[in-house]
Amino acid sequence: MDHLPIFLQLRAVPVVVIGGGHIAQRKIDLLLRVGAQITVIAPRLCAALEQRAAAGEIAHCSALFEPAHLDGARIVIAATNLKTLNAQVSAAARARAIPVNVVDDMELSTFYFPAIVDRSPLIVAIGSTGQSPVLARWVREQIEALLPGTIGTLARFIGARRKAVQEALSPAARRAFWERIVRGVAASRVLAGDDAGAEHAYQRELRAARLTCADRRSAGALGEVYLIGAGPGDADLLTLRALQLLQQADVVLHDRLVPAAVLDRARRDAERVFVGKSAASAADEVHTRQEHIHDLMVHYARQGLRVARLKGGDPFVFGRGGEEAQHLARHGIPYIVVPGITAALGAAAAAGIPLTHRQLSHSVTLVTGHPLEDGALDWTALARPHQTVVFYMGTAYLQRICAQLRAAGADEGVPAALIERATLPEQRVVSGTLAGIAALGQRRGIAAPALLVVGEVAALAQSNGECDTVKETLQSATRQASATEDLHEHC
Ligand code: SAH
Repeated sequence: MDHLPIFLQLRAVPVVVIGGGHIAQRKIDLLLRVGAQITVIAPRLCAALEQRAAAGEIAHCSALFEPAHLDGARIVIAATNLKTLNAQVSAAARARAIPVNVVDDMELSTFYFPAIVDRSPLIVAIGSTGQSPVLARWVREQIEALLPGTIGTLARFIGARRKAVQEALSPAARRAFWERIVRGVAASRVLAGDDAGAEHAYQRELRAARLTCADRRSAGALGEVYLIGAGPGDADLLTLRALQLLQQADVVLHDRLVPAAVLDRARRDAERVFVGKSAASAADEVHTRQEHIHDLMVHYARQGLRVARLKGGDPFVFGRGGEEAQHLARHGIPYIVVPGITAALGAAAAAGIPLTHRQLSHSVTLVTGHPLEDGALDWTALARPHQTVVFYMGTAYLQRICAQLRAAGADEGVPAALIERATLPEQRVVSGTLAGIAALGQRRGIAAPALLVVGEVAALAQSNGECDTVKETLQSATRQASATEDLHEHC
C-alpha cells in the first residue's frame, strides 16, 4: 500500500485552491460539501465560481500565484492547466509541509482524491494510486449498485443507539450484537423505511442479547421473508433490491423457473431449498406443495432466519405471491415484496416486440393460457384488434387458445409469436399468424416456459424461426394506422 486512506475533518479549515476554471470548481464543490474555508487564487473565475464567490461561499484572491499565498493553508490544491505553475505550487506546498494535490498529476501530489460513494454518514472511498482512475470509478459504480440507497439511515440508526448498547452489554457481547443488527431484521426494516418495525426488532435483539444461549432460543427471535421476483431468467435482470436481499438471506426457497445463475447471486453459505412445482402436477398435489411452501416460510422465519422466497418473473404476476403474502400476514411474519421483471416484459425486450405501439396496439393484457373454468376469460374482448395479448402457461394448450380467439372473432391473419426461455442463452422465437402459430410451435418443439404473444406487434418479433408473410401484415397495418396518426398528433 502506497498511500494511507484517511477521512479528514475539514470544517472551517483553511484550504487554498490555485486555479479558477472548471477543474478547480469540481474540487471546490466537494470541499464546500465538507465545510472547508476556501480561498481561490486565480486572475479570473469561471461563471460558476464567480457565483459562489458572490454568495460568500468562497474567498477569491484575484492575483497571480505567489508562494506566500499558501501561508496558513492546511491543504493546497493546484488545478491550473499550466504544468510549470502546478509544479511551483507543489514545491511551495512541500516546502511548507502542507499536503498538496495537483489535479491529474500523481508525481506532483502528496495526496489524491478517491472516487467516492457518499451515503453519509457512511462513505466509501476508492483509489487506484493513480494507476487507473477509470477502474476506480468502475469499482465505485459496482459499490453504488450494491449498497442500498438508505444505508446512511442505517448508520444513523446504529449511531443513535451505540451509547445505550455500551451501557447494556459487555464489550464481548456488543460486537456479536451489532453483527446481528447489521445483518438482521432490524437493518432490513430500517432500509425498508419501517421505523417502528426496526425499533421493535432492535429491542427484541437487545433483550435476547442479555439472555444466555438456551434462553435465547426459547425467546424465539423472529425472522422475515422476502418475496423476491427473480426476473425472466437472465441474472443481470435482477433488480438491485433483489440482489441486496439475496445477499442477506439465510435460506433461499426457489422455483423451477429460477436458473442457477440467479441462485449463484445468493450468499454462498445460504441454505438453498427447491420448492418447485412441476407443470404436470395434479391440482391436489399443487395445492399441497403450495401449503408446504407456506409452512416452510413460517418455519424458517420463526427460527429467526431471513428467508428469500425467490420466484420467476414477478411475484404478483401468476406467481401466487399474493397468497404467500396473505399467509405471512396471518402468521404475523414481517415480509417485503420485491418486484421483478415479469416474463412478458423480458420476452418482449429480448424478442424485439414492443408490447404497445402507437400505431399497432393501445393496450396489453396478461392472461393465463392454462384452461380455467368456462367463462373465466372474456374471449370476445381478447379477440379484438389493436391490442396485445400475452398468454402465460399456455404452451400445452396452443391449439385451444388460438381456436378460442378465432371463434370469438379474431382474424386468422393476426400476427402471433412464441417466445421460449426468454432472455436465456437458449431463447427461441417463432412467429407466424394466429392460424398457423400452434402448428408451427408444435413442429419446432416449443415447450414451457414459453409465452404466446398475439397482436399486430408480434409481427415485429426478431424471429429465429420460419418467418413468413408477417412483415407484410405489419406494413399494411402500419399503412392503415398511419392514416390515423395525424389525428393522434393533434389530440
Ligand atoms: N411470475 C412469473 C410467471 C409464472 S407462471 C412472471 O411474472 O413471469 C409461469 C409461466 O411464465 C410459464 O409457463 C411461461 O409462460 C412464463 N415464463 C416464465 N419465464 C419465462 C421465460 N423465461 N420465457 C418465456 N416464458 C416464461
